[in-house]
Amino acid sequence: MTNISTIEDWFSRRAGLLIAAGPCSVESRSQMLGIAEALRGKVSIIRGGIWKPRTRPSAFEGVGEKGLEWLHEAGETAGLPTMTEIATPRHLEAALEHKIDAVWIGARTVVNPFSVQELAEAMRGIQIPVFVKNPVSMDVKLWLGAIERFETVGITRVAAIHRGFPDNDTIYRNTPHWEIPIELHRLRPDINIMTDISHICGRRDILTETAQKALDLATDGLMIETHCNPEDAATDAEQQITPSALEEMLNVLIVKKNISEEEKIISELRSRIDIIDDELLRLFAKRMNISEEIGRYKKQHGITVLQMGRWEKILNDYLKKAEKLGLSQEFVKAVFEQIHKESIEKQLEDRS
Ligand code: PEP
Ligand code: MN
Repeated sequence: MTNISTIEDWFSRRAGLLIAAGPCSVESRSQMLGIAEALRGKVSIIRGGIWKPRTRPSAFEGVGEKGLEWLHEAGETAGLPTMTEIATPRHLEAALEHKIDAVWIGARTVVNPFSVQELAEAMRGIQIPVFVKNPVSMDVKLWLGAIERFETVGITRVAAIHRGFPDNDTIYRNTPHWEIPIELHRLRPDINIMTDISHICGRRDILTETAQKALDLATDGLMIETHCNPEDAATDAEQQITPSALEEMLNVLIVKKNISEEEKIISELRSRIDIIDDELLRLFAKRMNISEEIGRYKKQHGITVLQMGRWEKILNDYLKKAEKLGLSQEFVKAVFEQIHKESIEKQLEDRS
């Protein structure tokens, strides 16, 4: 892959791809100097999280303000600009004090218009590139609304980062639901969108294919969490890659010219089907696990496996629901008869 852009060109001329790489969390000075050396000349901007939004307070919540010095020094060493996540006006102030070049607003912050507005107000009169991640809820207007809040206070360089959406069980940590960034692009074709494949995938083995998909559906850049010792990372160890793996990935990715609108639409629709089929498989597995659990319970309590009356009633209910959903009765009947048959076998397995 060629044509890695500088942040200036990317915003002013939308030239090339913006590649943001660096660790999930800034951990130490030596970690940051190591990654800086490895990324020099290879990416557009170094990322690093200073304050980490964690589900539970006992988890590592980032090194805090002292890490900004290490991030800044890493940028100087690599000759690259730097970016970090901010969630409060105090974070912004600290990032500016330490000459951090750009900020991103995290998915858990974007979901709250009060927080976004507060951050936007704190930026009045300041010029710093702002990258707005999609909110954790699948709501394109909330995403766009956050972008508009920064534009309204006069920020001229605002871009979007697609990082996927927490979802049912899929192969992804955050399912991409490509139709959402595509809709954002339709509503605001002037806004650059990059794809944070790390938080979409949550694992290393599907990063490259996901990056290629993003490029085919016309992303303007990639965010890829990169760490010299991914396994030892303080956060998101499963999804980070080494600088050499990053280089390898960037080498195999292809920026296809002339992908027609039709091809993009088909490709997006196919990925929706793939995601749903994958979900169906996982649902079947979940369903059968419960059947096995019921089988064990019935065995312990001397209850018979097959209860015909219950099954006939359930099937009838499903057929009524199917009709309302516009599904054919034959199809739904055939599917559920197979599921029921397999479920009975699962319950009996334990008894043999
Ligand atoms: C991150 O980029 O490290 C991060 C926490 O992102 P998100 O807000 O997308 O979860
Ligand atoms: Mn992370």
